[in-house]
Amino acid sequence: MNLELKQKQFNSAMELYEGRNCHKLFGIFVAMTNISLQIYTLSRVLTISIGIRWQIISFIAAYLITDFVNGLVHLYMDDNDNYESWTGPLIANFHLHHRTPRYQDNKIFVVYFNETGSKVWLIFYLAAVAILLQQHNINTVLLYTLTYIGILSSVAELSHYLTHNSNSPVVNFLARSKLLLPKRQHAQHHLMDNISYTFLNGVTDPLVDFIARRFFTGYKNKTDLHYARYSGVNSPRR
Ligand SMILES: [Zn+2]
Ligand SMILES: [Zn+2]
Repeated sequence: MNLELKQKQFNSAMELYEGRNCHKLFGIFVAMTNISLQIYTLSRVLTISIGIRWQIISFIAAYLITDFVNGLVHLYMDDNDNYESWTGPLIANFHLHHRTPRYQDNKIFVVYFNETGSKVWLIFYLAAVAILLQQHNINTVLLYTLTYIGILSSVAELSHYLTHNSNSPVVNFLARSKLLLPKRQHAQHHLMDNISYTFLNGVTDPLVDFIARRFFTGYKNKTDLHYARYSGVNSPRR
């Protein structure tokens, strides 16, 4: 595909993103829907008792699956150059994260809200979990794991923000303990190509890296080139 054409499409998509309030309102709608569903699914699943051992197992499983699934979504989004689709403005804005070394400082809850507003796919996921919670024949450990994944997917966005913006000893300790994303590991994603896509704690990076190497060509010589002629600043994610 012609590079100049893609750059033009990118700039038009960003013009739409910046010019229309509906994208900001859409983000608020997505955040509110996701957070409502997270509260609903958690309060509902907490009425089921599975014992402390299964609680720990389901939480660890959810942590790993969240890291992996969100890494895959990131991989797919970094490769996506469909700027003329109805989600084109969101895709274009997403790509700008590769040139962002630091984000605007904000309170943790504000970051949680804003970043959750970028996760359109999470609405469908959480809605499916909410439906499963109405059924009576589903494995209860599975229900807990699915619910935790729905919440940890937003926590992953916080983890990414803290990797870029925080030098607090607590955050550094949590990163060393493999509960949050280590700075150096994530820096690879920005400095190199087609690598380190995960952003909850980075444990499943080898698996996502393997898939990326097999099926994707990377962003440095593809989507990163599309914003070369874009001069605006925005508040991208990841
Ligand atoms: Zn990326
Ligand atoms: Zn980043």
